[in-house]
Amino acid sequence: MSPLGMGLLLIVGWGAFAYSSRRRWRLMMVGGPAPRFDHIGERIRLTLRYALAQMRMRRYPVAGAAHMLIFSGFVILLLRSLILWGRGFDEEFSFWIFSPDQPLGALYALLKDLFAVLVILGTLVFFYFRLIVRPARLTYNLDGLIILGIILLMMVADILYDGASMAARGRGFTAWEPAGSTMAALVGGLSDGSLEVLRHIGFWTHSALVLIFLNILPYSKHFHVLTAFPNVFMQDLTPRGRLVPIDDLEGKVEREETLGVRRLDQFSRKAMLDYYTCTECGRCSDVCPATITGKKLSPKHFIVDLRDFLYKHETALVAGSNGGATHAQGGDDEPSHRIDLVDGVIDPEVLWACTTCRACEEECPVFISFVDKIVDMRRYLVQERGEFPAELQTAFRGMESSMNPWGFPADERAKWSDGLDVPLLADKPDAEVLLWVGCAPSFDDRAKKVSRALVSLLNQAGVSFAILGTEERCTGDPARRAGNEYLFQFFARANVETLNGYQADQKTIVTSCPHCFNTLANEYGDFGGNYRVVHHTEFLAGLLRDGKLKPTKSVDARVTYHDSCYLGRYNDIYDAPRKLLESIPGLTLVEPAETRDRGMCCGAGGAQMFKEEEPGTDRVNSVRTDQLLATGAETVASACPFCMRMLTDGIAGKNREEVKQLDVAELLLQSVGEEATRGS
Ligand code: SF4
Ligand code: SF4
Repeated sequence: MSPLGMGLLLIVGWGAFAYSSRRRWRLMMVGGPAPRFDHIGERIRLTLRYALAQMRMRRYPVAGAAHMLIFSGFVILLLRSLILWGRGFDEEFSFWIFSPDQPLGALYALLKDLFAVLVILGTLVFFYFRLIVRPARLTYNLDGLIILGIILLMMVADILYDGASMAARGRGFTAWEPAGSTMAALVGGLSDGSLEVLRHIGFWTHSALVLIFLNILPYSKHFHVLTAFPNVFMQDLTPRGRLVPIDDLEGKVEREETLGVRRLDQFSRKAMLDYYTCTECGRCSDVCPATITGKKLSPKHFIVDLRDFLYKHETALVAGSNGGATHAQGGDDEPSHRIDLVDGVIDPEVLWACTTCRACEEECPVFISFVDKIVDMRRYLVQERGEFPAELQTAFRGMESSMNPWGFPADERAKWSDGLDVPLLADKPDAEVLLWVGCAPSFDDRAKKVSRALVSLLNQAGVSFAILGTEERCTGDPARRAGNEYLFQFFARANVETLNGYQADQKTIVTSCPHCFNTLANEYGDFGGNYRVVHHTEFLAGLLRDGKLKPTKSVDARVTYHDSCYLGRYNDIYDAPRKLLESIPGLTLVEPAETRDRGMCCGAGGAQMFKEEEPGTDRVNSVRTDQLLATGAETVASACPFCMRMLTDGIAGKNREEVKQLDVAELLLQSVGEEATRGS
């Protein structure tokens, strides 16, 4: 067509893209290292499943299909763009294997035409969503419409080029090039000169728009077109419930290094990639209990605000990236990019509203993580500035003085078991099962009844078990989620020492608290404690399977089950509690609309249990209770002492005391036989 014109176009287009890419690369590298090249096979599998096949979008079938069409179309049409660029230098250019007279060439021509049409349909779907449906979760700006317009025009231009070329050569309709042929029929009556003009318009429009599109990406939310694949590939493959410990905590304190994240460049490079990749789709905020109840936290805006700050201070961040982390506090004379993120970028109230429920992470189509970032910033607030909701101080003090966040006397930890003949591990070191009771099931009056019911079931099934009694302490979970890593690590090390002293690694640890379960199973490994930990619902399901427990009595009730976040979304335990409920004769299990991995948080996780909800907002437990009561259930079942407390309060708040709130173990016990409650 025009070697000079195409040469210039390619040099300018690719040169500009190389410049932008280098900028984004250097900016990403201001973050700390985050090595993510282990388990390559698994990473590839996940990337194909979630980035290519868009499996996270299965709940949004139309948008998911449109995304997949556009992406697949892009991959197929990339080859077409290369061919067109080549034709800028030689009109007959084609890659040999794809030339029209080769079988593969005909097949490619067909595929290209089909996908060009499908991409057009995909963009029309997105136009429809953006202009007509307008879901509240989306961000509306010109950016999105311009990108969609470019994609649409690219496809139309390509078809126009093909059609005008075919018409100029007098070629009739061919099923191998349906779109081009149809266009040829449309423009077939025009003069040779007009066809030549159309051919040039189609050719240059397509060739240039591909490069314009490429150059817009790094400066828009559509950067995810390029970063989504690496972001999914580099997701954290360690257990979802594991927060990365602050290494060498004591040493860091001595060296006066920042604990937690104060500045943006103290996040990892993977976090920077997260910021680049956010599509602003708002699916995270749609399911966030904090957003739903009117709190300041919106996970989407949390990520977008950090990204905007990152881009705004690009020059300063890149220039200062070799300076390393410092302990300096932000002051008036400090460069703006080095001041505390909580002093103007992220309101602390945003950070304290998070229940760490992971609903956002489960929903995000590009695997952006939130909980680690929020806890990292809480770590800084708590450990460096000593700023946190006042009620948390009570919990921290209770843990320090009495080994439980409520401050109940530590020597009364095993009182719940009075009259039940529950052996201590010190007296029965060969017990096969260590029943890790937890703080709430030891001290909370309602949760104590669940502990007693569980013990009765274990005794009835003839399980050899024991408890630690006053040797048990809080796992440290509330402190860790609240950002007090120092306190958490104290508990982790002390508990691991106790557990290892009893060779707990050769036993099964059973616990009725999902928070204890998560910490013992997923976090103590970092402190030398590797145990087989089983939640009580799974353990009881095993006893049922082995015929050691037989639910025979009918429990005529309509029951709905509330999924605990730390059991479900964190540890994929959805089926065991349901199996227990379904095994009970007479019981009818009804699911709420928001269930399993989409179940709404009760509002207690992430140390929320120990603080007040932000004033002027709805209560999370109240909203969740409404969802559960909407099933018409007479009983709300749960499998977590924190959920139990929140839902009991929620039901009472609605004056629906006739609705029972029971742990799954209590319901099972009703069916197995009340005589078991007397214990062994
Ligand atoms: S973890 Fe839960 S509360 Fe926190 S931002 Fe995500 S959805 Fe919201
Ligand atoms: S973080 Fe994920 S879910 Fe939330 S707006 Fe961005 S891409 Fe969408």
